[in-house]
Amino acid sequence: MKKNTIQVTEPFLPPLEEYVEHLKSIWDRNRLTNDGPLVRELEQKLADRFEIDHVLLVSNGTIALQIAMQALELEGEIITTPFSYVATTSSIVWENCRPVFVDIDAETLNVDANKIEESITPLTTGIIATHVFGNPCDVETIEDISDRHGLKVIYDAAHCFGTTFKGTSIFARGDLSVTSFHATKIFQTVEGGAIFTNNPEMAARIELMRNFGHDGFGKFSGVGINGKNSEMHAAMGLCNLRYIDEVMEIRRNQCSYYSHVLDPVQDVGFQKIFRDSYVIPAYYPILFENEMQLLKVQNTLESAGISPRRYFYPSLNTLDYVSDAPAPVSEDIASRILCLPLYHTLTKENQDLIVAIIEKTLRSV
Ligand SMILES: *Cc1c(COP(=O)(O)O)cnc(C)c1O
Repeated sequence: MKKNTIQVTEPFLPPLEEYVEHLKSIWDRNRLTNDGPLVRELEQKLADRFEIDHVLLVSNGTIALQIAMQALELEGEIITTPFSYVATTSSIVWENCRPVFVDIDAETLNVDANKIEESITPLTTGIIATHVFGNPCDVETIEDISDRHGLKVIYDAAHCFGTTFKGTSIFARGDLSVTSFHATKIFQTVEGGAIFTNNPEMAARIELMRNFGHDGFGKFSGVGINGKNSEMHAAMGLCNLRYIDEVMEIRRNQCSYYSHVLDPVQDVGFQKIFRDSYVIPAYYPILFENEMQLLKVQNTLESAGISPRRYFYPSLNTLDYVSDAPAPVSEDIASRILCLPLYHTLTKENQDLIVAIIEKTLRSV
């Protein structure tokens, strides 16, 4: 039974018959995982779509980050952003590296590239930056810095399915880019993720790493892990790929409509999109003037059966397992940013209701 509430997001599901067609072919082949034909087909279709040579499907976005760190042999200190999902930081710690937080830009909400250089030490080996809500980081400045200091760059591009910078997919940037195809992302394979590269040696290395290091029967080339994804997951991706342009178009219209109806509302701010970029919004974040406003609006929406979400909260430099360096901009933004519901069946009436509640609540605080 469908619940009568408005969630922050809902997965898009393809017509069941189309998924069942793929299941039948899987049953016929009796091949469930280990680089099956559907995984290969999805990788190829994504490579074509984004014009990137190698797309390596893995089991989720977090293992994608960890394999990317292993593939680039990162160690010591990693410069990163405090404003992201927790997996960006926890992966660094899990890989026995130390996250060094560089504060964010208050407008783009991405790591402030102009503050990176002052945090580089002899122990720094890499930079892991998130394109927050799909908005590209200042990739050119970051590339210049990493070139001059011999650092590797990984982009957490989990929100970037439709993002381009200067006309090409943002997935092509950095030494490696990784993404997530989790059920909450705009393009989903239930669980899943991918690593993108144009470097054939790097791709070969990652292919070994995601499969225990298996290099033919009884032969192992390096330490690996199980980062594979299955035929069932790839089938979901192949079905969704047929609808993703439609899904993204609906999102774009919904976001324009939110912007239109929120325009006259005082005290609400927005993320600034980086120059030369095109972003298909998978999220609709709004900024309040302070946390009190946010909490009041969140409570009022929740009592009306509407669930916005505090993305990202808390600022990652305040996690209890990292050394507590201040990141005042990130902490401030994290305290007053709220993502409004956004999914393909959200109606204009839903959006009108959400904005009316926000407006009314703000007038009363
Ligand atoms: C979703 C997400 C991840 C983690 O991806 P999973 O597939 O859930 O492991 C990492 N970073 C960011 C920014 C994300 O939004």
